[in-house]
Amino acid sequence: MDIVYYGDPVLRQVAEPINEIDDEVRALADGMVRALTLKKGVGLAAPQVGVSRRLIVVDLEAEDYFEIVVNPEILKTSDEMVEGNEGCLSIPGSEAEVMRHETIWVRGTTLDNETFEFEAADWLARVFQHEIDHLNGKLFIDHIDEAKRLQVLKEFERVKREEKAEV
Ligand SMILES: [Zn+2]
Repeated sequence: MDIVYYGDPVLRQVAEPINEIDDEVRALADGMVRALTLKKGVGLAAPQVGVSRRLIVVDLEAEDYFEIVVNPEILKTSDEMVEGNEGCLSIPGSEAEVMRHETIWVRGTTLDNETFEFEAADWLARVFQHEIDHLNGKLFIDHIDEAKRLQVLKEFERVKREEKAEV
């Protein structure tokens, strides 16, 4: 599965909820896990592989956390905000400091159709906010100021040119 880049309209769509966990959803999850591992990323949302459905994969080795989450939603957020470095597989090239809620409460469903709720803090909370943003057509560059955004997009254009040159 190829990663879809910034500029593709699928990244700006609000993704559809998954009503049934069938073979198609399981195959999508498999493909996403493979793509994420290949790119050594920490999180991936289905729109990033061109599928506008509410499914994310989070693989945060540093916190020993791996989960495929169907229909993830943020139930509650802490008032406290923290700044941290973020990048995106759909906008490769550079990273930027992004403000996120320090702690969030998440509800989601596993591929075995079990619904769970949990509290995530720090990095894990950041990754979940980033990936759930993707399901709502939002990108990390929407959270940063104009000057920084232009810088990120300039680096992204450079990466795209280099990738084209390699082909
Ligand atoms: Zn992203």
